Parts: sequence; structure tokens; C-alpha cells
Amino acid sequence: MALYTLPDLEYDYGSLEPAMSGDILELHHSKHHAAYVKGANDTLDRLAEARDSGDFSGLVGLEKTMAFNLSGHVLHSIFWNNLSPDGGGRPDGELAAAIDEHLGGFDTFAAQLSAATTGVQGSGWGVLSWEPLAGRLMIEQVYDHHGNVGQGSTPLLVFDAWEHAYYLQYRNVRPDYVQRLWDLVDWRDVTARFDAARSAA
Ligand code: MN
Repeated sequence: MALYTLPDLEYDYGSLEPAMSGDILELHHSKHHAAYVKGANDTLDRLAEARDSGDFSGLVGLEKTMAFNLSGHVLHSIFWNNLSPDGGGRPDGELAAAIDEHLGGFDTFAAQLSAATTGVQGSGWGVLSWEPLAGRLMIEQVYDHHGNVGQGSTPLLVFDAWEHAYYLQYRNVRPDYVQRLWDLVDWRDVTARFDAARSAA
């Protein structure tokens, strides 16, 4: 039985328009995200086969493939829930206070997360995360799905900077796509992740 499954979206493919076209969202969810789910499940099977046979000669590649696909599945699952047809605006309460304290206020935070996302060289993500050791918010620039990440951080808000996320609609103008993403952010979801990450720490 497959351990990982493609989650359903809580909204229709067309409901994030005009910021995100229905064509892009359908491809992104039903093809790209689905491929990461399949890749994670297939690689788990291959790792089990390696254990059963005692042949670990392919382990380096399998570990890398596992990290890529599992992280892709995790980040996309967060991404869909971070977005909403009713999104936009700003957080309030303790999340807003933490953004003020750790990241210089909302406008400065937004500028850094936008810059982290638009500045990815190649494929990756801009991520707002909770770093439990220091007990603070951080912004990370993730390469592919799994590189340049501080171990232990919990992603709260993730912006997909892969070309498959925007190219059909925004062509080469990634900054315009990132600017429109802010209109979709569901701060209730981000706040729930923030609260859960802090209580887990
Ligand atoms: Mn993606």
C-alpha cells in the first residue's frame, strides 16, 4: 500500500484565478505534485528492496531521490493549503508580533520572502519557517525541494519558484507571479502552522 497520497485541493482548479490560472494549477497538482508522490512511494519500495537484498550499491542515488520526492510532496502539500481564493491581507496576533520582532515588520518580511523566492537560481522555493532551537521565524531559500535547508526548521509559508508554477501564465517574469501570490495567502493556515510549530518545540 502506498504510504504517500496526493491530497485533494480544498478549492477548484479555477478558483485562484486570475492570480494563478486554472490550467497551471491543474497541471501543477495533478501532474507535478502527483509525480513527487509516486516518486516517494517508488523510492521507499526500492529502499526496502535494497535492505532485503543487502545490496546497498545504489544507496546514494536512492537517498537523494527520496529526499527530492518526499520534500517535493511535503512542500506542495503545504503550498496548496497556504493558498485560498479568499486569501490576502496580513496576519494579526502573535504571528504578526513575531514577524515584527524577528523579521523587521510585515513589509520588510514580505520584501525578504519575495526576494528569496524571485532570486532562486534555477528551481526552488522561498520559505517562511519556524526555527525551534532559537525559537524564531526565519526565511529560507530552498534549492530544488531539499537543498539549503536548516535541519529542524518547520515550513509555515512556502512560495514555489519552479518554472512549472508560473511559466505558462507569467512567462519569464517571476517577480510578477510572486507579487500576485501575496493576494492568495491564507493567513489562517499560516497562523495554525505557526501555533503548531511553537507548541511542538
Ligand atoms: Mn511546484
